[in-house]
Amino acid sequence: MSTFEQHQLNILKRDTLIHHIPEDDYQVIFEKVATHGQAVIQKYWSIIQSERLIAWILKQGIHIAFQTKVTQKNRLVFGEYAEKTQRIILYEETIQKHPFEFVENTLEFTLLHEIYHVIEAKEKTNYQTYYQVTQTLLGPIKLKSGIISFSELSANYFAYWILEYWRNKNEEITEEN
Ligand SMILES: [Zn+2]
Repeated sequence: MSTFEQHQLNILKRDTLIHHIPEDDYQVIFEKVATHGQAVIQKYWSIIQSERLIAWILKQGIHIAFQTKVTQKNRLVFGEYAEKTQRIILYEETIQKHPFEFVENTLEFTLLHEIYHVIEAKEKTNYQTYYQVTQTLLGPIKLKSGIISFSELSANYFAYWILEYWRNKNEEITEEN
């Protein structure tokens, strides 16, 4: 398992509904994440390929802001997208102190992750329908809910894949020179 896959697994394991998900289904979830992530990448491919993603974000009226906050309820926060105020907030201190092992640039990764949330909001994606668990509450009462981490896993997949693409592209250019 790669460090990225391990990271994804850790996120899934933190989901509040994890105890209702059979372990055999973890793979099913990751496959759905990949399929969904690929579909989003494909839809925005012309923008991604030309590296105009940041210009596109700014054109949507979204501001990119830097802040220093480190934790939120004992949880590290790297970035967030505040839909109401149309802001992507990047937490510099967390990013600097806790870089991810699986990417060269944690700041870029975090920004791409948040860009995914912008797209998700724009597309009004209801990721909760992608993988649902049924909880039995009282006798005949059953509650169907989606796993929250689906969106996080997809955002990471999106960011990771784009960075890989850009990295390979740059390597090709270097070799040609
Ligand atoms: Zn996120």
